Amino acid sequence: MKLPFIIIVDDDEQVLRAIQRDVRKKYHKDYRVVATDSANEALELIKEIKLQNETVALFISDQRMPEMEGVIFLEKTKEIYPDAKLVLLTAYSDIDVAIKAINDIKLNFYLLKPWNPPEEKLYPPIDDLLDEWQAHFKPDHEGIRIIGFQWSPKSHNLKEFLSGILIPYLWMDIENNSQAAKYLASAVVSHEQLPLVVLKDGTWMSDPTLPKLAQSLGLQQSANQKMYDVLIIGGGPAGLAASVYGSCEGLKTILIEKSNPGGQASSSARIENYLGFPTGLSGADLSRRAIAQTLRFGTEIITPKTVKKIRIQDGYKITEMTDGSEIHSKSVIIATGIEYTKLGIHGLDKFTGAGVYYGSAAVEAHACKDEIIYIVGGGNSACQAAMYMCKFAKEVNILIRRDSIKKTAANYLAQSIIQTPNIIVHPHTEITSVEGDRELERITLKNSTTGEEKTVPAKALFIYIGAKPGTLWLNGTILKDEKGFIITGNELLKEKTFNTFWKLDRKPLLPETSVPGIFASGDVRSTALTGISSAVGEGAMAIRFVRKYLEET
Ligand SMILES: Cc1cc2nc3c(=O)[nH]c(=O)nc-3n(C[C@H](O)[C@H](O)[C@H](O)COP(=O)(O)OP(=O)(O)OC[C@H]3O[C@@H](n4cnc5c(N)ncnc54)[C@H](O)[C@@H]3O)c2cc1C
Repeated sequence: MKLPFIIIVDDDEQVLRAIQRDVRKKYHKDYRVVATDSANEALELIKEIKLQNETVALFISDQRMPEMEGVIFLEKTKEIYPDAKLVLLTAYSDIDVAIKAINDIKLNFYLLKPWNPPEEKLYPPIDDLLDEWQAHFKPDHEGIRIIGFQWSPKSHNLKEFLSGILIPYLWMDIENNSQAAKYLASAVVSHEQLPLVVLKDGTWMSDPTLPKLAQSLGLQQSANQKMYDVLIIGGGPAGLAASVYGSCEGLKTILIEKSNPGGQASSSARIENYLGFPTGLSGADLSRRAIAQTLRFGTEIITPKTVKKIRIQDGYKITEMTDGSEIHSKSVIIATGIEYTKLGIHGLDKFTGAGVYYGSAAVEAHACKDEIIYIVGGGNSACQAAMYMCKFAKEVNILIRRDSIKKTAANYLAQSIIQTPNIIVHPHTEITSVEGDRELERITLKNSTTGEEKTVPAKALFIYIGAKPGTLWLNGTILKDEKGFIITGNELLKEKTFNTFWKLDRKPLLPETSVPGIFASGDVRSTALTGISSAVGEGAMAIRFVRKYLEET
């Protein structure tokens, strides 16, 4: 495959030469760097590149140019290459324009002139943008293929797992992709044996389990060490943060995740409130960055493995997995978050993954192109999903029990929803029944104020109606509140039974559970403030207390 382009536009010849020189120096091996002093000429060139079926990864444009302003040029490029990253070259006096462009055209970065030394001011942000672009770029075909029925739950599970662990794949719908049949024929696989996964080297697996797929992809499946300083259960923001800080501080750290690292956050279409990302970032991007960071520090990540029990032996913790394997550690951090609440409608379960989804808008978005879809719930997650899906679907319908989303969603989201023409909010509306053959086809809606019912075609239903902790497996080991959240620190002192389970002279540490050396952080912790930043903060903080605990043992 040919290298992607980086296109630079600046009417000031001296600046153009300087930026072209610096960009070429670092990126010429992986990108074709093209520079021009004319915005119009650049637009013509881009159209030609598009005709040749080639790709542009990054546009860099000066703001002040006689033919057209940089912001206008970059906006025009979005019509041709919507996924390319945009950088505006600005003078200090144009910062206001640049900041406005972050909102208006989703500018990715503004670079102040001069950018010397480039090692400090130019390369780090460009590296970051190109990494992000590469992570989403799907080359024409190389790599893994999944062949199956679009609305099959099994296909959905495989797609969700691979996208969650950031492994690119090519999805081939057996009913709509003429090439797909060819793979079935060479693997001698029937429709009943789908989905079929074809790996890079041509080997294939029919209907693989996630552990089998993970093994074939070379993902770590067992612990390398006999004893770890800290074992983290759950790879959401809290667990990932704990793993980064644990490994970074020199602790032998292992993280166990039952599906893919990233947790709830990875299904977030756009996180707008995470510090340091003024243009927002997707949950997948946040997870990708965190996984790369923690692996770099030496964390071992084992996925997919579900923890089913923790035993204590001479103060050491033995964590048991559902497949029978065990890992020994001196301390444990439970960061298992919360699980989506299921919508209790008769017959709905059979469509889960076949038109009905819990928090997986991003994975199925392209399959909903030009379709009419429904979202249940009016909270931030539901509204984020709607804002994401409206770019693909013809019509996005949000069903809420209350009269307005203003009471349940953040103001900026509620405003965006109101201003988006293809999103319709249906107040006082519930689903009473669902129908379909192999996949979801129709839903019946009821207006609770008027009592009116109507049955409408629905290709997909995304459900975001809250969540609860999945901590049943901890019964009998660790103290939880009446809703199943883990009680920690001073809250334990309030328990009448405190003296029966706590035998140490010291009080429980802030994130410590009723068992010394087992900590809880993130959404699973009773009284925790939910949200990504809080989970990250709690994960990082837990490591401080793990160290304290390790010092005393
Ligand atoms: C769609 C969506 C959008 C959101 N958007 C935002 C936003 O924009 N801003 C914001 O601040 N917050 C947002 N949130 C909330 C935020 O994502 C959560 O508060 C945060 O992810 C909590 O992190 P956590 O690490 O505590 O738990 P989780 O993210 O729930 O992660 C827990 C992990 O533990 C794993 N696990 C569970 N049980 C086991 C087990 N037995 N063995 C092994 N692994 C296990 C799970 O698979 C999961 O990966 C959003 C949530 C959703 C669902």
